[in-house]
Amino acid sequence: TAEAETLEFQSEARQLLQLMIHSVYSNKDTFLRELVSNASDALDKLRLEAFRDKELDVDTSDLHIELTPDPVARTLTVRDNGIGMSRDDVVNLIGTIAKSGTAEFLAKLKESKESQTGELIGQFGVGFYSSFMVADKVTLVTRRAGTTEGVRWESAGEGTYTIEPFEDAPQGTSVTLHLKPEDTEDRLYDYADKAKLTEIVKRYSDFITWPVRLGEDTLNSMKALWARSDATEEEYSEFYKHISHDWQAPLETFRLQAEGTFEYQALLFLPAKAPFDLFMRERKRGVQLYVKRVFIMDDCEALMPEYLRFVKGVVDAQDLSLNVSREILQQDRQIERIRRRLVKKVLQTVKALPSEKYETFWGEFGKAVKEGLLDDVENREAILEICSFDSTHAAEGQTRLADYVERMKEGQEEIYYLTGESRTAVENSPHLEAFQAKGYEVLILTDPIDEMWVDAVPEFSGRKFQSIAKGQVDLEDEKDPEQEKEFEGLLGWLKSTLDEQVKEVRLSSRLTTSPACIVGDTYDLTPTLEKMYRSMGQ
Ligand code: ADP
Ligand code: MG
Repeated sequence: TAEAETLEFQSEARQLLQLMIHSVYSNKDTFLRELVSNASDALDKLRLEAFRDKELDVDTSDLHIELTPDPVARTLTVRDNGIGMSRDDVVNLIGTIAKSGTAEFLAKLKESKESQTGELIGQFGVGFYSSFMVADKVTLVTRRAGTTEGVRWESAGEGTYTIEPFEDAPQGTSVTLHLKPEDTEDRLYDYADKAKLTEIVKRYSDFITWPVRLGEDTLNSMKALWARSDATEEEYSEFYKHISHDWQAPLETFRLQAEGTFEYQALLFLPAKAPFDLFMRERKRGVQLYVKRVFIMDDCEALMPEYLRFVKGVVDAQDLSLNVSREILQQDRQIERIRRRLVKKVLQTVKALPSEKYETFWGEFGKAVKEGLLDDVENREAILEICSFDSTHAAEGQTRLADYVERMKEGQEEIYYLTGESRTAVENSPHLEAFQAKGYEVLILTDPIDEMWVDAVPEFSGRKFQSIAKGQVDLEDEKDPEQEKEFEGLLGWLKSTLDEQVKEVRLSSRLTTSPACIVGDTYDLTPTLEKMYRSMGQ
């Protein structure tokens, strides 16, 4: 046989492994959820591949997951007869972390307090590496379906791993954990104990649609959670963690279904926390597609628009072919209809959230949602209804637009706003003076995306958005002819002196303490937007 090679983990992987070895996360039981989750994914992939590739020489008659504890050797093996991995797969998938933004994430982790580490790790999702919370050595043997050569991988998690060819590896993957000695004394952490394993699987992996066996027993009920109406919050929560790779419970769970000509069921979740890569380019969307209980794909972009990319869940459609591809889905009218309905449901769900949950939601995902004001014209009004903005109404906290409209002064027809780089910058703007003095509420928009949508979105609830830095928004129309006359000379002089810089100089009632301010034309860019374009080199 060829010899074992010793390879180094990629540096990001090494850092994460260090965290796992020194176990920052208090709930170690979750390592098993991660391994069962990977095994389940591998079985899903094999079933689909076998269906699509009739030539593939595999036996799919008894796909399952098997737990084999050995209390004497102090090991636990988790085996599946799923898709398996080639040597390159193992190096690329297990020895490397390919997620974009990992370096930034790790930098953030370093700065964070001890108490936040677990939470951050959860957002990132450590998956397979969580084995090292409970094991001081991990051995993985795998063979990719349709190939003949197996691979054996082993590591203590400290910087390097060995990899070598392995003869007679059964198809699929087995992961053997050599349990840390400190956990064996404590019954609470005895992962070679049948009762303990049974309890963990029931708690975390009951909905897995493949049998998880321990000896003769099947430990899980295998019911597809989205098809049940009697699931408990805890079951939903564990299912959510399985599909989202999040380690915390979701903020909100909701179901929807359609019967008749195009039947489907959906189970969707709003996470409680934005993932670390929400604003990264390669960020995937979170909805999985199943067809008649068969997993078809992750990140089904045809089912959720980009601005709702944080929504997680499952859609199970009855009348699609198992052969559907992403390309076909993009053009499928039924899928388009499901997507429209999902979007409406998400927006309605957010609108109906109790205020505390809503505030959490908005704090985490508001920036992404506002992209929808530009991208999703059809749902603009519904999106505006769930937006919140800073406002002069209160020194802290944000306001919904409906509340702004409610408070509008008699005779006020437009929704006033002012954009800027920060709340303080806007609050110190001379533009605000008269509006504040006269008791008009002004929205304070400080997100770069705000600059974009206010230009594109004409109105909310029939009220136009009006920048108080642009055009003629003087609050009292009647001009005082005497005053005009009195200042005629000054205005003329200013105009000729500033000829190069300004179009017009006029008297205004919009200021109270500042002597003068610069305003843009109605159709000009706002100063912030101008800066933004300039910095982009336009
Ligand atoms: P994630 O599941 O979030 O992708 P993991 O660290 O859990 O991250 O796993 C990394 C990758 O390794 C998986 O995406 C998968 O491609 C591969 N993998 C892990 N376990 C298995 C397995 N049992 N069978 C086949 N591939 C696996
Ligand atoms: Mg995983």
